[in-house]
Amino acid sequence: METDTIVLKGAEVSAKIKEQVTEELQKLESMPGKLAIIRVGERPDDMSYERGAKKKLESFGLEAESYAFPEEITDQEFKEAFQRINQDERITGILLLRPLPKQIREKDIEEMIDPKKDLDGISPKNIAKVFAGDETGFAPCTAEAVIQVLKAYHIPIAGKRVVIVGRSMVVGKPLSMLMLKENATVTICHTKTREIEETCRNGEILIAAAGKAKMLDKKYVGKDAVVIDVGINVDEEGKLCGDVDFKSIDGQAAMATPVPGGVGMVTTAVLAQHLVRAAREKNTEDCR
Ligand code: NAP
Repeated sequence: METDTIVLKGAEVSAKIKEQVTEELQKLESMPGKLAIIRVGERPDDMSYERGAKKKLESFGLEAESYAFPEEITDQEFKEAFQRINQDERITGILLLRPLPKQIREKDIEEMIDPKKDLDGISPKNIAKVFAGDETGFAPCTAEAVIQVLKAYHIPIAGKRVVIVGRSMVVGKPLSMLMLKENATVTICHTKTREIEETCRNGEILIAAAGKAKMLDKKYVGKDAVVIDVGINVDEEGKLCGDVDFKSIDGQAAMATPVPGGVGMVTTAVLAQHLVRAAREKNTEDCR
């Protein structure tokens, strides 16, 4: 008889991160400063992420402020506004909701953002650090959240066969580097991967970050694998779902994260953690 898959709950991981953040906050000698959430336009998924991030930060005793700009803002206008936020002493961290509208050169903004405030790891400096295995920068929060889920549940990574479906700069690529840093043996799958089901089945830890609703069913999951679902999609009934068909893999995977209630909750907790770290590092620098 097949046993049920253990559900890895984002709320439990987030609660552990909250304890660490609270401790760190108590050690800070001055106020941590705030997070600026920058949004252009009114995409529902951006607005929902913004609300979730604000709520999470506030529940951690941290401050977040939204800076919203109209969809039709010009490249020049946005850059000027962005630079003001970037240079504002009261702002310790920045979260830029992307993609930006086409008229704004996103690459320029990635170059402009102060790496010390770049809590979601979009600047070339922070990305280079992730790829160099240097932990002094900020990694993208979602990629780091995956590692934190595994660590919070004491799931060993070193030496494991980790298969990641997705190679974006937001999730798949940085996560593959974080996994390598943890001494995993990493395979990255994408739309051109042949025999993807077999490749995924070979993973002892399988990470889904394809952005395809319920794409990964039982055929993709090896017996007793740990499955981490990063996907946030809407199914045919309009309900939030992941990239993994949770019902299909139940009993096949040893453990899996649900959607909602999985990695997403941890991502915003990591964002809070990054804000407090940025504040601590700023204080140290100011004291020099
Ligand atoms: P993305 O930029 O669209 O990248 C998707 C990746 O998946 C690409 O590398 C693509 O391959 C690959 N892919 C797509 N369909 C595939 C298929 N049928 N077979 C194999 N590979 C496939 O997406 P993203 O920004 O990385 O986001 C991925 C998912 O994570 C989305 O659902 C997003 O909403 C979610 N997300 C969640 C969080 C969170 O906090 N939980 C944060 C960010 C993103 P190619 O490169 O070949 O096109």
